[in-house]
Amino acid sequence: MNDYLPKFGDTRVPLNLWDKVYESDSGCWVWTAATTKGYGTVRFAGTTNRAHRLFYQLLVEPLPKYDPKSGIELDHLCNNKPCVRPHPKHVHRCTQEFNLARRTIPSGKDHCYGGRTHCSNGHEYTAENTAIRIMKDRKYNKEYVYRQCRTCERSKSLEWYYKNKAQKEGN
Ligand SMILES: [Zn+2]
Ligand SMILES: [Zn+2]
Repeated sequence: MNDYLPKFGDTRVPLNLWDKVYESDSGCWVWTAATTKGYGTVRFAGTTNRAHRLFYQLLVEPLPKYDPKSGIELDHLCNNKPCVRPHPKHVHRCTQEFNLARRTIPSGKDHCYGGRTHCSNGHEYTAENTAIRIMKDRKYNKEYVYRQCRTCERSKSLEWYYKNKAQKEGN
């Protein structure tokens, strides 16, 4: 997967598409034209595509049609939906084995296990700060192994404790 790091402006992507993208300070290639649910959309070769899927296919490899059951899809590990940069820290393809150990967070965003070094609140996944949990996805009848940030978990249960306590005292 060493050819997985295309450069900004790569000529395999037509110039009129590059015109709609800028490189942000964080290294994202941000799509500035039309979006749907936050993801870039683009008409190309007669069909409408998600911009990040199109860039991935032009620069890296062909993709099968998106099928939630196969679970193989591109993930935005940078958490920036309009980003179209194929890169292990930006738009990254979950392979089958990644997929077995995939993390789903309640907002509906999926993350490849192992792809991220920090939780969505910026806490590092160190050995002490990481709990391995299993989540059941009833809809697709699958189990996912995911990493839970202990700092977030602790602050959530503290929040719950104080909320609960305040309610009890309020009665
Ligand atoms: Zn990005
Ligand atoms: Zn955290």
